[in-house]
This record gives sequence, structure tokens and C-alpha cells, in this order.
Amino acid sequence: ATPTAVMVATGVGASHGVLIKGGDALERAESIQHVIFDKTGTLTQGKAAVTAAKVFSGMDVGDFLTLVASAEASSEHPLARAILDYAHHYHFFDKLPTTENAGKQIKEAIPSGWLLEAMDFSALPGRGVQCLINGKKVLVGNRSLLTENGVSIPVEVESFLIELEENAKTGILVAYDGTLLGVLGVTDPLKREAAVVVEGLKKLGVNPVMVTGDNWRTARAVAKEVGIEDVRAEVMPAGKADVVHSFQKNGSIVAMVGDGINDSPALAAADVGMAIGAGTDIAIEAADYVLVRNNLEDVITAIDLSRKTFNRIR
Ligand code: ADP
Ligand code: MG
Repeated sequence: ATPTAVMVATGVGASHGVLIKGGDALERAESIQHVIFDKTGTLTQGKAAVTAAKVFSGMDVGDFLTLVASAEASSEHPLARAILDYAHHYHFFDKLPTTENAGKQIKEAIPSGWLLEAMDFSALPGRGVQCLINGKKVLVGNRSLLTENGVSIPVEVESFLIELEENAKTGILVAYDGTLLGVLGVTDPLKREAAVVVEGLKKLGVNPVMVTGDNWRTARAVAKEVGIEDVRAEVMPAGKADVVHSFQKNGSIVAMVGDGINDSPALAAADVGMAIGAGTDIAIEAADYVLVRNNLEDVITAIDLSRKTFNRIR
């Protein structure tokens, strides 16, 4: 393709909200063989909502939710936001939110006065959070976080977790002073266009892949809903780039689509990194493409545009 053709394609892309950083990226997109999608915020809307809260310890559910929200108050993870919204609703309305009223009254900033004081907060990427409340250690996160801290997971809790996960929900475990208190179930709906885009990629001869830090059972359930067979789950934040490299090993051209800070090494490692426009600045910086409309259809637009520019459509 001539420099003029590249310039025209870049302009056409921009008019569709597909920002292309340079002709090399435009050219590489033509021969993409695998598209690796991050799950949370990329295939899903990134609007996690708590759908279940189950206390196993006999604690009052309101106290349980206040404790969990207090532990998550300093976290920037989307799951933390969902937990705070849910607990906030319970605190002010004295009942669990329903799907219809969830989030409605949470438009304004959450006042923090009702939370307990959390000391020594730390976020553990890919696992959860920990802190001290009333001088006792509070853990909120996945199985690994609890087992690494020597908290055992009772059989009844494990079966509740499995039920959540088989329904594509993420189970969040809560422990206080070494004992498991309860579990929250969180769901994050798929983007409306996700399944159509996955189908479209298959028609173009491109292999869709999903990568996530979430557990295997939830990951498989979500992947099944969206039509992806190739799944990598329980990947630590630093491991996403390794997944990209593993697909590149046999000389394949790999695209990564992601939105998070966690995704930026993988976006940089990929032959073509595509950041979701609503994603974090770090992801946008690491990527070759920015999908400004936050619509996954633009992954296909990007591939089409490249194929047309380089005349490989016969
Ligand atoms: P993803 O790749 O899906 O964005 P992350 O690597 O951010 O996932 O997190 C992986 C898992 O770690 C989550 O599914 C959750 O179980 C747990 N986790 C991470 N951060 C938190 C948090 N702030 N509160 C509770 N659980 C968390
Ligand atoms: Mg994400």
C-alpha cells in the first residue's frame, strides 16, 4: 500500500472511532490469527453488580456488608465498587437491593461516615484485598487469597461458590480473624455485541481467545455464553503477556484487546494491541489501536480496514 492509502485508511478508521497509531500497526492487523480478549471490562460491560450475599457465620447480614464494604473502601477494583454500592444500599434502606432498584440511588458519591475504620489496607492483584478492622485481619477475595492465609473453606461454602460460578458469577469470599464469614456473588453482563463479534471473527478465520484473572469455572461459563472455546483463566496480572507470547511461539500474529492496567503488558507484547477507549490511560498508551466507541465490533472494523488497505481481500 502507498503512504497515501495508509493515510486514507487512518482517516477512515478515525471517522469510525478506530484510532490507529502508525502504519505498521495498520499493516500487522491484516494478518491477525488470534484475538485474545480480556474478560472483565472488555467482553463484559465492566459494570459488576452484587447479586447474592450469603452469611455462613450467623452474623447479621447488615454487619457483614458493612465489614466487607469497609475493607474494600480503598480499592479501585471494579468489584470493590459493586460491593460498596450494594452495602451502601443495604445500610440506607435496610434491605438488600433488587435487580430493579440496584444502583438507582447511588448516583451521588458514597458518604464514608458509615464505614468502619480499616488499617493497613493492601490490594493484592489477582487475589483481593486485606486490612485490619477492630485489630483483626479481614480478607476479601478469591479462594487463593483465603487458602494462602490459612483460612479453610467449609464444604457448604464451596458448594455455594460452585453454584455461583456455574452461573457465570464470581464468588467473593470474606474472612475475619481467620474464619470464613460469608460469600458475595457478583455478575458482570456481557457487552451486547460480544457474541456477534466472536462469531464474526470465526467467519474471518480468526481464533478468538479469552484471558482472565477470574476462576476457571466462571471463565468457562462466560466463554460459553459468548462462543469462545479457547480460555485461559486464573492468570495473574503479570501472566497475561505470557499468554500472548505463548500464541506467538509458532509465528502467529496475535492481537490483544483489553482495558485495564493489568492488560497493558499484554497489549504491548501483542503484535496488535487494541485498547478499549473507556479503559485506563496506561492501557491506551500501551496499545496500537484505540477503540473509542467501546464497541467490540470495531475489532472487526480494524481487521477489515487493514485487509482492504493492503488488498488481501480477494
Ligand atoms: P480480571 O482479569 O478478570 O480483570 P483480576 O486479575 O483483576 O481479574 O482479579 C482476579 C480475581 O481476583 C477476581 O476475579 C477476584 O476474585 C479477585 N479480586 C481482585 N481484586 C479484588 C477485590 N478488590 N475484591 C475482591 N476480589 C478481588
Ligand atoms: Mg479488564
